[in-house]
Amino acid sequence: MSEKYQLEEAFDPQSRFENLEEFEPEFWKTKKLESMTRAEWELLCDGCGKCCLNKLEYKKKIHFTNTHCRFLNCNNCTCQIYANRFEVVPDCRDIDLAAVREKPRWLPKTCAYWLLDNGYDLPDWHPLITKRADSVHQAKMSLKDREIVSEVGIIDYDHYVVDWEDL
Ligand code: SF4
Ligand code: SF4
Repeated sequence: MSEKYQLEEAFDPQSRFENLEEFEPEFWKTKKLESMTRAEWELLCDGCGKCCLNKLEYKKKIHFTNTHCRFLNCNNCTCQIYANRFEVVPDCRDIDLAAVREKPRWLPKTCAYWLLDNGYDLPDWHPLITKRADSVHQAKMSLKDREIVSEVGIIDYDHYVVDWEDL
């Protein structure tokens, strides 16, 4: 990990959903992921933060741990170095089509990209449905208020494996 980074100013997740009227209504129902614009793609992220948990792979299966990337803001599940995340954290993954389709699956089963790509609709708590960024937290589908710990200083990740139903 690069030691050169600056934490970004706190970001208001609701600001992502301020201009929804500029988008085609329910565009996710008519467009495939590969045809979406960058702006549409970005809106699909529900802000759960679960892709920022550390994971282990055993026998071609991903096991999530309750340890999180040190740069996750646990209050609102946003990344504190979003603009520079790939430079600062080399194993931070871009959420692109290849990532969504990778096997074994490493995105949580609630992830909007994975759901749509596998023929499911968005859940009713998704911010695109509720128009509220915090609905993912209210539905208890995010990392907010869960028993999670920062990865700093952790070596024995296998002691932190969790089997939450929404992973
Ligand atoms: S798991 Fe999916 S929906 Fe949740 S924060 Fe990551 S990319 Fe967004
Ligand atoms: S650097 Fe990557 S893994 Fe870490 S909090 Fe940011 S987006 Fe998540």
